[in-house]
Amino acid sequence: MSNQTRKVPKFTIARRIVQICVLVLFAAPLIAVGSGLFGATSGAEELDFTASTLPFFGSLSSSTVAGVVVLDPFAALQTICASKTFDVSWLIAALPVLLVYGLVRGRAFCGWVCPVNLVLEGLDWVRGKLGLKVAEHAVPRHAKLLVALGILVLSAVTGRLVFEMFNPISAINKLVLFGSVAGVVTLAAIAVLELFWARRVWCRALCPLGGFYEALGQLGCFSVKMDHSACTHCGLCSKACLADPEILDDALDGTSGRVAAGDCMLCGKCVDVCPTQALSLGPAAPFPK
Ligand code: SF4
Ligand code: SF4
Repeated sequence: MSNQTRKVPKFTIARRIVQICVLVLFAAPLIAVGSGLFGATSGAEELDFTASTLPFFGSLSSSTVAGVVVLDPFAALQTICASKTFDVSWLIAALPVLLVYGLVRGRAFCGWVCPVNLVLEGLDWVRGKLGLKVAEHAVPRHAKLLVALGILVLSAVTGRLVFEMFNPISAINKLVLFGSVAGVVTLAAIAVLELFWARRVWCRALCPLGGFYEALGQLGCFSVKMDHSACTHCGLCSKACLADPEILDDALDGTSGRVAAGDCMLCGKCVDVCPTQALSLGPAAPFPK
């Protein structure tokens, strides 16, 4: 490997810091009121960590900030479908999250915040270190849009928040915060799929939340940009892509000056590995051609 490829992976380092900070952010209120992680209790007093008694409390699905409820927009959509009612307060509660990811880039949530992606990147790293080969099965990357739609339809039919019944993000939160192993089956099933069926298939093609944020992706004001004159077509960026190698195709063949696909996670992994600095990540007008 050339020295050029050994540059500091600054986006990967930055993402690890943000991903860990997010976990700490949601654990901090519980620790502050005397609860340890994984369900352990460090204080003898009875715990009282209701949303009304703490300035911040909750999870990535639903939290309370200074008494204001903030909802994950996909959870809000499921609530609307399941209850078959529309309460404007749900929309208001989802608006801050919708605005942040809508303006930055939808799947920045997947690349920078989601703890499932953190765990699965770790799993992929271990797989690589062990030299385990995954027999790749083609799964269309846009399947996650249909999965998201299917979850909403099923929520309407069953009257239940269907994704929340097996949401692996909640499973990790509950495991780390409360020691609950109820969601471990979901996490294990995803791990088996990724190890033995198709690499990174959950984030790439199946996660309904990823599908929801892919639909928002075109609105984002940040993109990976390409300097065609510097590209040597070494292919390292496609190989490293956390979303799907094919999302770089238009930028690589000169059709586009940036990665326009809505499912780009803005993870910066392609920028980190590019030996010629042909790729950069920064502000760009929404709705790319
Ligand atoms: S953008 Fe960089 S990493 Fe990707 S093919 Fe071109 S030179 Fe290689
Ligand atoms: S194109 Fe680059 S920034 Fe986008 S998901 Fe792939 S590796 Fe990450």
